This record gives sequence, C-alpha cells and structure tokens, in this order.
Amino acid sequence: MSFQKFQPDELFTGHELLGTGYVLITDEQGTVDAIVMEEDAGDNIQRIHGLLSPGFINCHCHLELSHLKNVIPPHTGLIEFLCSVVTKRNFDPAVIQDAIVKAEKEMWDNGIAAVGDIGNTADTADVKSKSKIRWQNFVEVLGFTDEKAQENVEFYRSVLDQMEKIRSRSLSGPNSVPDRHRDRSTLVPHAPYSVSPKTFRLINQLTKDQVISIHNQEHPAEDELYKTGGGDYLKLFKIFGINQSPFPVTGLSSIRSCLPYFNNGQTIFLIHNTYMPEEDITWTNDYAAQHNVKLIYCLCPNANLYIENKLPPVELFIQHGCQLVLGTDSYSSNWQLSIAKEVQAILAVPRLGSVAPLVEVLRWATINGAKALQWDRDLGSFDKGKTPGGVLIDKNSWTSQRLI
Ligand SMILES: [Zn+2]
Repeated sequence: MSFQKFQPDELFTGHELLGTGYVLITDEQGTVDAIVMEEDAGDNIQRIHGLLSPGFINCHCHLELSHLKNVIPPHTGLIEFLCSVVTKRNFDPAVIQDAIVKAEKEMWDNGIAAVGDIGNTADTADVKSKSKIRWQNFVEVLGFTDEKAQENVEFYRSVLDQMEKIRSRSLSGPNSVPDRHRDRSTLVPHAPYSVSPKTFRLINQLTKDQVISIHNQEHPAEDELYKTGGGDYLKLFKIFGINQSPFPVTGLSSIRSCLPYFNNGQTIFLIHNTYMPEEDITWTNDYAAQHNVKLIYCLCPNANLYIENKLPPVELFIQHGCQLVLGTDSYSSNWQLSIAKEVQAILAVPRLGSVAPLVEVLRWATINGAKALQWDRDLGSFDKGKTPGGVLIDKNSWTSQRLI
C-alpha cells in the first residue's frame, strides 16, 4: 500500500492546532493512518503552504435556493428578506438545477465534507444522489394553521419520500454511489413564525430520536409575535392571505413558546439565534437538560451580516457552554458557500479572540459539526481510521481548497 504524506505550515487535527514539523499520513483513499513528527515520517513528504484541516461540516444550507445568488440585496432586514424569498418564484427549473450543480461543486472543492441541508422540495435530490458530499436533509415543514396541519405534514412527507426514492436508486445499478448509504432525511419545523401548534406536535411525534433543526430568533419581531400577537411578521402573513397572527399569544419569547413542543429524544439545531437574549439561553439549556432533547447552536455569521448586518451573541453562547457549529445558509443570503469565510467572520467579532481563538472556531467547523450530525465516527478529525477529507486554508485570504 502506498501512503500520502502532507506537511503543512500548520496542522489542525480536529482537536488541536499543531505548528510546522508535523506530517499527516493517509492511505490513497484518504483514510488517516497517523500524525507524526517530520523526522519519523520517512521520505516522499509533500510540503504545503497553509493550514491543513479535516474537511468542514456545513451545518446549515439551503442548496435548493442557490439560484437566488445576487437576487436579494444585502441589509434589507429579515422581514423584507423573507417577503422577497417567498414572492420570488417561477424560476426556470433548468436555472434552478444549474445553480444547484454549481453550488454543490463549490462546496466540495472548498473542502466541505458534509452538509445539513434544508429543503421544501426534492429539487436537490438528483445532484445529491451523485455527490461526494454527505447530506443530512432537513425537509422543512411550513404550516401556518392547525386546520391544515395534517395535510401540510403529509405533503412534506411526500417530499421526504421522493428524496429517499432518488437516493435509494443511487445505491443500486451500474452507477451506484455507496456513500449515499449514510445520507439521512428528517422532517423539521421551519421557524416559530411559520408552524402552528398542531403542526409542531405532529413533527415531534414523527421525529423520535432524530436530528432536526429550527430557525431561531432571527429578528426581534419573532418574540413580539408570541408576546403580543403583533409586529412585523404580520406583513409576511399578509402575502399568504392571513390577516392576524395564527399562533397563540403566550406572553413568552418565541423559543420559550415553541421548544416545549419537543420532548422526543431529538437533537435540535437552533439556527442563527441572532437576537437570543441571555435569559433565553439559560432557559433553553435548562429545558433541554430536563426534557430529553439535545441542543446544537448553529451560527451563520455571514448570512446574519448579509440580512441584518448584525451578529449573534457569540460570547454568551460560549459562556453558557453551548455546543456551537457553523453554517453558510444559502445563496439567497450569502456571498459564497464557504466555511473558511464563516470562520473568518467569527474571528472578526470584537473582543472574541481570548474566548474563541482560531483553534476553537476550527473545532466548530469540523469535529463539533460531525458530532452534532452523529457522523464523528469517520468525519471531523484526523484520528486514525477516519476519512474526513482534508482542506487547505489560506489565512491571508480566508479561502480554502480541498486537498484530500
Ligand atoms: Zn436558513
């Protein structure tokens, strides 16, 4: 058997950051054999400029929205943004497919190994069935009213079935793609402002012990909606012909109103958390500890900057011991789909350097994401026997490219 030996300027193992002088050894397929000192590595060492990391885990994307690249201008604010997304339909299916193909290739080439990907349609299923990236498909349920809850959930189950059918086709036949065995699809709620109580209860029943996600506290109006029944989300509902809040007024924040629907062993990715106050972070962590759910906090800093020009309270999440991971969100709200750029955006947060140094943020980008998606047996770090892929990061430009 022949080995590949890589000696970068810096080597991030998935756990710690090593200086020059270390060599990563893998077999030809990229299975990790060892990390050794240069003097013990023998000959044929490839010396490489840059920081070598295990493949990235992108925990939040909407691949099916890739055709919205450069369509919605930055800094509109979330409500305007959502109104744009839901009204900009009627794209040519060929344009949609072409954008999905390009975005998948971009993510593979810049070193992304696995994606937690949201979809309301099965538009991405074909591309995924041939992809070298691993996919956790979050089939996102929207359902404003209890009356239509069952019907809506059935519709999204049919989307999920379609995803699964196309995936299982890729497992057999002459062009079978064995990696597709590990892909998963689960039903998930979209957001507190788009899911009715009965719809939440149905999703809770249907997702026992699964990995799911929900967009959380992206805008102050989300809390207002549950505290008073008013606020800017009413503008979004109008587009759907709904003239008042269809949700119960609880007098509580949105997360306190909605997380209690879940108690079925799920791992729940809370996405964005841009406006999450400290009191809700403590409440949320306490709820999870007492109700058999596990929480992952997913940050998509460039999307937050694109939409609201605001970042989530990263320091508070660290202080409260939250499990943090990173996502790119979609091309409707980002300039690129690059985890290296998300790492750069986090490192640019003022005063964060001492609590979240580079090594810690790289953990969010790799091993934390792999653990959260329950794929850390083979992804997320350069531990012996894993096949995490390898990505070379240029810390001057914060660009990255796949090496392994
Ligand atoms: Zn999203």
